[in-house]
Amino acid sequence: MPRTVTDDLISANARYAEDFADPGMDARPVRGVAVVACMDARLDLHAALGLKLGDCHTIRNAGGVITDDVIRSLTISQRVLGTRSVVLIHHTGCGLLKLTEEFRHELELEVGQRPSWAVESFTDLDQDVRQSMVRVRTSPFLPHTEDVRGFVFDVTTGLLREVDPAGPLVR
Ligand code: ZN
Repeated sequence: MPRTVTDDLISANARYAEDFADPGMDARPVRGVAVVACMDARLDLHAALGLKLGDCHTIRNAGGVITDDVIRSLTISQRVLGTRSVVLIHHTGCGLLKLTEEFRHELELEVGQRPSWAVESFTDLDQDVRQSMVRVRTSPFLPHTEDVRGFVFDVTTGLLREVDPAGPLVR
């Protein structure tokens, strides 16, 4: 069998474990924050936000979209593991900007089955961040919705730009 990328990861883990010292932490994030972000490979959340091991929950999917499953994770994060703040991060050049719900239709034509999930594609980054903030703030399952903020990460500068939840006055 040819060596795969997974084999490389396993080798890297063995080296990691050699220097690893048990930090003695419990599962509650030290800084009480959950970060929901796109899975994009160019977004190194810990480096970009100054986060260290044990600081936060990171919940990632294609687009950083607030799906039912993200609400599930946030609910456990807040109710079981004590987080109170939520940070939402989308980014420039996101793959979801290039997709439409037509993707589901194409899938159905190809495999004969329509996916139960929405693609959750978007054309306006800021508007989708705002919609994500609303989904978090209005979830009946989340006890802490006072500190929910949304951002767009620029993959070319590394800078976060905060999205005004109220949105522009003229669109
Ligand atoms: Zn993305």
